[in-house]
Parts: sequence; C-alpha cells; structure tokens
Amino acid sequence: MRDTIDNSNPTATFSGPYYLSIAGKLVGTEASFDVFNPATGAVLAQAPAASAEQMEEAIAAAKKAFRHWSQLEHAQRRAYLVAYADALQAHRDELARLLTLEQGKPLKTMAEPEVDQAISWMRQIADRPIPVEIVEETDSHIVELHHTPLGVVGAIAPWNFPVLLSLWKVAPALIAGNTMVLKPSPFTPLTSLRFGQIAQSVLPPGVLSVVSGGNELGPQMTAHPDIAKISFTGSTETGKHVIRAAAGTVKRLTLEMGGNDAAIVLPDADWESIVPQLFWGAIGNSGQWCVGIKRLYVHRSFQPQFVQAFVDYARRQKLGDGLDPEVGVGPVQNKMQFDKVRTFLDDIKANGYKVALGGEVDEGRPGYFIPVTVVDNPPENSKIVQEEQFGPIVPIIAYDDVEDVIERANDSPFGLGGSVWGRDTKAAVAVANRLETGMVWVNEIHTQGVDIPFGGHKQSGLGTEHGLEGRQLFTNPKTVLIRK
Ligand code: NAD
Repeated sequence: MRDTIDNSNPTATFSGPYYLSIAGKLVGTEASFDVFNPATGAVLAQAPAASAEQMEEAIAAAKKAFRHWSQLEHAQRRAYLVAYADALQAHRDELARLLTLEQGKPLKTMAEPEVDQAISWMRQIADRPIPVEIVEETDSHIVELHHTPLGVVGAIAPWNFPVLLSLWKVAPALIAGNTMVLKPSPFTPLTSLRFGQIAQSVLPPGVLSVVSGGNELGPQMTAHPDIAKISFTGSTETGKHVIRAAAGTVKRLTLEMGGNDAAIVLPDADWESIVPQLFWGAIGNSGQWCVGIKRLYVHRSFQPQFVQAFVDYARRQKLGDGLDPEVGVGPVQNKMQFDKVRTFLDDIKANGYKVALGGEVDEGRPGYFIPVTVVDNPPENSKIVQEEQFGPIVPIIAYDDVEDVIERANDSPFGLGGSVWGRDTKAAVAVANRLETGMVWVNEIHTQGVDIPFGGHKQSGLGTEHGLEGRQLFTNPKTVLIRK
C-alpha cells in the first residue's frame, strides 16, 4: 500500500512506522525489510524498501527543486540549514537512542556525540559561503572564479556512522545550492529516515529526499543521467563499482573508502600515558571506523609491557548493549560484518598467532558480539595486518627501526589516515610527513573539523571532504572574464 502522511508531528515510536521522504512528503512502500538491533539480534523495525520508480520520483523532485534552491542567496539557504539544525536539535535524544538501537554503539560515549557533532556541523557549514575569487585583474579585464552548484547530488552512506557521515554530505551539498537524494545503508536506514522526515518540515520539497531500500538503488543512482555527483562513503570494492557506473554520465565523484591505518609509537614515546587513546582509537565504535587504528606498531624495547598495559586497560571495558551506561564496547553492527570479522579470528587461530586477549566468540550470546581481541606481534604478512578488519581486533606489532616501520606502514594499497606518537614532536612530525595517507595525526587521533580537509590517498579515496577544498567539490568552478 502506498500512502502519504501528515508530517507536522514527526514523532514515531522506535518500531516505526518509517517512511521515505520524497518531494516534501512521507511516502510508504509496497515492500519493506527488517532492521535488526545488533545487541540482541532481534528485529527492531521494518524499513521501507523503495521501488525503482520511487527512486525516480525522488531524483525528479530533486531536479525540480534545484531550479529554485540554486537561485537562493547564501543567506536564505543559511536560514534553512539553521532551521534544520534547530529541528534536529529538538529530536536529538530520540535520534541518539535510535542510533544506538540500530547501530549498536554506546549511547553516551558514541551515539550522542555523533548526533551532536552532526548538528554542530550543519550550523558551522551554514556560516561558510564559498567566496568569489578574483584570480586576475589587469587594466583591460577582471577575471572572477565562481563556484556554481552542480545539480542533484546522490549521497550513498555506510552503516558505521550513519548520522554523521550522511549529514557531512547533506550540509555542504545544500549550502552550495545543490539538492540531494540520500540513500542510507540497508543495515542502518532508520536514523536517516527520521532525519529525512524532520527535513520535510523545514526544507522546501525535493531539496532533501531520503530513500531506503536494497543495494540495487545504488547502481540506479550512480548511472542516473539527472544526478550530477555521487558523494559515497563505503568500502573500496563498492567504490570501484561507483567509479565504473559514473563514467557513462561523467559524474563528479567524492569517494571515502576503506583504510588500514597504522599508528606508530616511536622509541621515545611516553607510551604508558597514551594507552587509553590508542585503545579507543582502535576499538572505539567496535573498530568499525574508517580511520580506526588497524595496525599498531610499537617499538620493540617496550612492546611486551605495552601489550600488557593495553590488555589491562581493555579488560576494564565492558562489552554489551550500547544502552547500558556501563558499556564501552558495543556489538558489531550486522551479521555480515560479524561473520567477516570472525574470519580474522579463524585465521589468527589457524596460524597459531599469540592472542593476548579475547579471540573466542561466546556462541551462546545473542547479538553480534566479538570480544576485544589483542594479537601480540603477528607477522607482517598476516591477514590481520594486511587487510581491513573493521572490528574490535588489533594487532600490536613490534618494530626495531623507524625507517623500516615507515616502509611497512606505507606498504599498503590503502592510504586513509595514520598517527605518530612520540615525545619529540619535531621527530614525530618528520615521520608523519612521510606517511602516504590523506590524514595523519601527531600525538592525537581522530580530531576532525569543518575546516580540516579529509580524504584518502591511493585506494582509500578520491577527492576531499571538509575544508574549503571539500565544499568546493560540491560545485563547478566557473571562470567569468569581464572586459573593463
Ligand atoms: P559498502 O560499500 O558495503 O556500502 C556502502 C553503501 O554503498 C551502502 O549504502 C550500500 O547500499 C551502497 N552500495 C552497495 N552496492 C552498491 C553499488 N553497486 N553501487 C552503489 N552503491 C552501492 O560499505 P559498508 O560496509 O557500509 O561500510 C564499511 C566500509 O566503509 C569500510 O571499508 C570502511 O572503511 C568504509 N568507510 C570509509 C569511510 C571514509 O570516510 N573513508 C568512512 C566510513 C566507512
């Protein structure tokens, strides 16, 4: 049954009903799919599965809305974005709780900060117009560089940070004058459907539509002639499909993809004091972090003591349902990822690598729980060092020589992020400068900001998010030469 409901009161129970938002309306679907609570493995709600026709309607509505939206002054679009941020703020607690329910992350330490950061991002982006640049001025002419909106942007999001990573796309696309169709991950559609619903009460129809459904909606978007750009966050494998599909219509692309980030703890590091930061850098969000520490290189002179301190710290963190305020580490988000992470545990076991903590899944426990697992010095060519685990497992690898560890860190098809830790900041920066990654932190990790460009090198990404560079990628550069 297809229906359209009044969206003046966008309050729903967590079990639903949930609706697509298309052309300013909340729309039901004929088909639906189950969304699971990863902490229990039970069905949380039914999400609407859009038909191809409904995706067409959303794209057509975005195309129509673009005519008016793109002509607004910055101040007018700013007012809409601020109103949207206010509306999201009014639903902040509900969104955070729903995020924990569908994603699994701890409510207080992960879900609430994610929603807060997303709302703050919206407000900050609203205040950042892209200025017209005078690139040349002579006696005879003046040359201006403008940044004009592209048209309809298709946003394709993953399941690890469904609120933040989606609104990271919505805010810069809309403020630049584009309209958007957002497709959330089928694993975590609910928060996106809710913030889509909230958008319909403040934004003009068609400016932001949220369309959930199966993976097949992705190729429909990436090949669509009326979508000018795809902003994608997800795995490198899917990103390659996006590149191929986008070729037919020469779409603009920003791709944020997988990583295998190294953290290098230098010989002079005050290693005891940074164990908590490194722990959360690796295990926060149950390791489902594109820029999570996935390889932890520690100087051999203290690697055994470091492993012990890391394990001691890890033992104090409770694994469980993210709604429990005592819990620091939640479940893995979905069954597919749970099975994938288990292949790493199987490989570690089969090869007899030393496991300092964890390693065994409690088969009787409902939900998708992988215990925090610390692998003590596995070989460089092991699966856990070479591949992206995207789960709460961390290899702590001993190294002797700084030159050698730089080479090992760079010997990867990925180049997303990394971090370097040492007392001598200058020496640490020198190492950081040699890492082949789009982002590197020195004696800090995971700080991001509206004005801090972020993107991957090599197979981790294409283009940049954030910063003026990232916002400009939601525009066409347009040169205007004026004879005086
Ligand atoms: P995924 O690639 O499986 O899915 C991402 C999105 O792509 C989903 O919405 C999915 O429905 C859609 N999709 C699937 N097939 C498609 C196709 N053929 N065409 C278009 N879209 C399609 O990724 P995931 O499992 O949701 O996310 C985990 C991965 O994302 C990890 O590799 C992680 O490192 C990466 N990631 C990267 C960043 C970053 O900023 N670089 C951030 C978060 C996650």
